[in-house]
Amino acid sequence: MKATTQQERLNQLLEKITKARDTFLGYPVSKDFDYSELYEFLKYPINNLGDPFEDSTYKVQTHEIEREVVNFFAKLFRANPKDYWGYVTNGGSESNLYGLYIAREMYPKAMVYYSESTHYSVKKNIHLLNIPSIVIRSQENGEIDYNDLEETLKFNRHKPAIVLTTYGTTMKEAKDDVSKVKGILKKLAIQDHYIHCDGALAGSFGAFVEPKIPFDFIDGADSISISGHKFIGSPIPAGVIVTRRSLRDRVSKGISYIGSLDTTITGSRNGHSPLFLWYAINKLGIDGLKARYNHSLEVAKYCNQELLKIGVNAWRNPGAITVVLPKMSNTIKEKWQLATEDDITHIICMPNVTKDQIDHFIKDVASSLHEKEEEELAYF
Ligand SMILES: *Cc1c(COP(=O)(O)O)cnc(C)c1O
Repeated sequence: MKATTQQERLNQLLEKITKARDTFLGYPVSKDFDYSELYEFLKYPINNLGDPFEDSTYKVQTHEIEREVVNFFAKLFRANPKDYWGYVTNGGSESNLYGLYIAREMYPKAMVYYSESTHYSVKKNIHLLNIPSIVIRSQENGEIDYNDLEETLKFNRHKPAIVLTTYGTTMKEAKDDVSKVKGILKKLAIQDHYIHCDGALAGSFGAFVEPKIPFDFIDGADSISISGHKFIGSPIPAGVIVTRRSLRDRVSKGISYIGSLDTTITGSRNGHSPLFLWYAINKLGIDGLKARYNHSLEVAKYCNQELLKIGVNAWRNPGAITVVLPKMSNTIKEKWQLATEDDITHIICMPNVTKDQIDHFIKDVASSLHEKEEEELAYF
């Protein structure tokens, strides 16, 4: 076999990645970013170890930028300006782990409640933290079944409750109503409770959804997580966790070696990803972020409508940028990289998805339906 040079290997890899990037509609990842202005920073061993809100001895870091990212989302999530805290994580999964960790530190004897539609990372996190848990039924649209939640909580009302709600479930982008959950906890007089909202998929645009679906701090959440590489977009996976400062104080321990507080899950932390997120949100601002959501929403409505036109039974949850449809043929599934579960699949209209792409997809679906009809006719 001919020996390939390192350069050839890199070229091949780049080509493969570029091709794969250009034909996916099924995963919630934005691809429309340009961070070339930040490339110079890749020359430095940036490490954000320690708490971004505390001093640290290691100065090759972007803590100030990281704090601004946290401030931006804290404001968007209507956190108490005098009592919030957070950091930039490696992704939504770590953010969820952090929320559950703080909840358990607060209520070590608690029970966790989460719905069947909850992201797979949550189950693993609960296992890692060794917290007893109960799965709550989901409604047909993917939203938590509030009646089942209430009945289950009633049986366990002597125990503190940690409820994990999802704002944008993985397959159907269903959004659990945090104020309804809060109302149930109040009605049952379960005073020791904690609500963590997993907004990995849709939290970044939750403030712009109309009519609003309650999910933020004023609505009753104690912590909220998002993924940075999904709706906003980043070359490196990233996430944000926002919670109350007073809750963080319960888990903080001073570490003299780094001259900071060890409040985060990992020691060394990515200092480049806060920079990417900061760059994006500063460029966009609130209005730009909102426009980004409205674009996605419009494309999703269009996709839904065009699918219905060719006889595909597509639907969307209110305010969702995800279109749910019956699972497709293997050719379509492979070509468009469509995540499929049981008998459904979905198209996630991330900000980079255009109507042209949707048209192309619709054409493929239409001809596959046609082929299927012909096959069936031939069979009979
Ligand atoms: C993507 C996602 C996660 C996990 O986030 P990562 O950034 O991939 O770690 C968790 N929950 C939901 C609802 C998600 O969509």
